[in-house]
Amino acid sequence: MSNLEAMSPDPSQSEDSASNSPAGRPVDPAAAAAPDPAAIASGAAANDTIFGRILRGEIPCDAVYADDLCLAFRDVNPQAPVHVLVIPREALVNLGDAGGQHCELLGHLLLVAAKVARQEGLEGWRTVINSGAEAGQTVFHLHVHVIGGRPLAWPPG
Ligand code: AMP
Repeated sequence: MSNLEAMSPDPSQSEDSASNSPAGRPVDPAAAAAPDPAAIASGAAANDTIFGRILRGEIPCDAVYADDLCLAFRDVNPQAPVHVLVIPREALVNLGDAGGQHCELLGHLLLVAAKVARQEGLEGWRTVINSGAEAGQTVFHLHVHVIGGRPLAWPPG
């Protein structure tokens, strides 16, 4: 059993996610351990990050959603009661690394972010994508933060 299989989300949530997947595809959290090799090859740098290791099942995560394009798991250092990261299986570094060919993938990540927020019981939430060290990016594999469960100030720090 892979780490991700061992840390699968609530089965009832998985069923719900499967039936309501934004892309209309079933959710298989265990598939996170077997990402598309072609997708990995397209982003060698990002693939070497800790998120690449999570996608390959080399280290565990607290997964809350998975499909064939992305994985969502709880942030190890949460900044709010709900703090989930949605990451593509394709190893993009950040939005600066994305091109027109990623339109569908980027839209999918945002729809999954909303799905996860609702799944977590949030009525309002913040999505954040840090792009580059100057913006606070510390893991160089594209990820969407989904943050909520407390009042959130604006502007952010
Ligand atoms: P960023 O600063 O936008 O690059 O966000 C990276 C996020 O990844 C931070 O909020 C970290 O707490 C989180 N993080 C780093 N390692 C892990 C991990 N192994 N599992 C879950 N979240 C992580």
